[in-house]
Amino acid sequence: MRSNSSKGLSTANTQPSHNHTHYHATSKRSLTPLSNKTRRQFDPNMLPNPREYYARVLKKFHPRGKQATALCPFHSDRNPSFSVNLIHGMFFCFSCGASGGNVLKFHMRLRGIVSAKAITELGAWNYE
Ligand SMILES: [Zn+2]
Repeated sequence: MRSNSSKGLSTANTQPSHNHTHYHATSKRSLTPLSNKTRRQFDPNMLPNPREYYARVLKKFHPRGKQATALCPFHSDRNPSFSVNLIHGMFFCFSCGASGGNVLKFHMRLRGIVSAKAITELGAWNYE
């Protein structure tokens, strides 16, 4: 069910506003070679589960309910001042102010890459 498909590929796609927790547990990373005719669309539903993703990439990851704290990867953090939402993937650092609305934004920032590449790395393209 993809009722609210994100139209267009604008990088300004913030967080998915839907509430249902629907995740693809096994991240099926499409290895389909890109041809010029392949149409692809960013599908927020295909982003990794925030809980699994953040647990994998963050240090001193401590989940607490829907939130988790961890060391901030965007500054030299000694006390966990990084807070993430495990449902929607929003993140915020109380120390350096780094923030974003979802796993995609985090991944872009962490890796210093543009959204298209981040979407590829996260396997969130929906190929038509
Ligand atoms: Zn920080």
